[in-house]
Formats: sequence, C-alpha cells, structure tokens
Amino acid sequence: MKEEMIRKLIEEAKKIANENFCCKDSHFSVGAVLLTKEGKVYNGFNIENNGIQSICAERTAFVKALSEGNKEFSCIAIIGKNMDKEEFTKIVPCGYCRQFMKQYGKEDFMVYTYDEKEDKIITYTLEELLPHSFDFERNE
Ligand SMILES: [Zn+2]
Repeated sequence: MKEEMIRKLIEEAKKIANENFCCKDSHFSVGAVLLTKEGKVYNGFNIENNGIQSICAERTAFVKALSEGNKEFSCIAIIGKNMDKEEFTKIVPCGYCRQFMKQYGKEDFMVYTYDEKEDKIITYTLEELLPHSFDFERNE
C-alpha cells in the first residue's frame, strides 16, 4: 500500500482516538481504522467498562465490519494516546486482538502504526505479531 494512503489512515485513527469518550478508567485511547478489500472503512476506539470486559479499538472496528457482512480485509491502522497529553504513540495489538485478527485477516493483512517522534510508519504482518496462533483446523 502507498505510504500516502497509510498516512491518511493514521490521520483518521488519530481523529478517532481523540473522540474516545469510553476510556475514563485508563485515560488511554486507541484509535483504529480498518480497511476492507472493497475499500470500506470501519473505525473503532477502545471501550472500557469499569475496568473489566473492555474491548480494544481493533476488535471494535472488526466487529462493526464483520457484523455488516464484510469478510475480506486489507489492513488496520492503529494509534494510541494518553488523553492527558497531546502527542500520539505507536501501538502494538494485545494478545486477544492478535488472535482475533489472525482468524479474520489473511496472510496479506497488514497492521500499521505510527511513531510520531521519528515520523515513521511501522508495519507488521499477522505472522510477525502471532506466529503460533490457535486454529481449530490446525489443532484437529
Ligand atoms: Zn486488543
């Protein structure tokens, strides 16, 4: 994917992170922008629930897209932010999200995050993030 497009997705993820009103416990917001292979965009931020049963930004975006019938995904851009500060921070997905994305993303699915201090896009494949994932078929 072209860097210009990735930067656009990262900018959108920053906007989503800034709009998060569901992270009162941690004061840490994550914005995620999921792109389907058809070119549809689904946004998500982390939604906290008194410190338990929270859902991450990545899964929020995926659940929105999946529940509307989307099955093919291109990439996700994620960025984090302490809501008490101005600057954004790079993010790596948590273990739950890695397993989740591995199930619904294919080998060519990309995870992008952004290091604001270095002005650098960081790219991960799902295989890099979770080389040994649970898989019903593989475990039969
Ligand atoms: Zn997560």
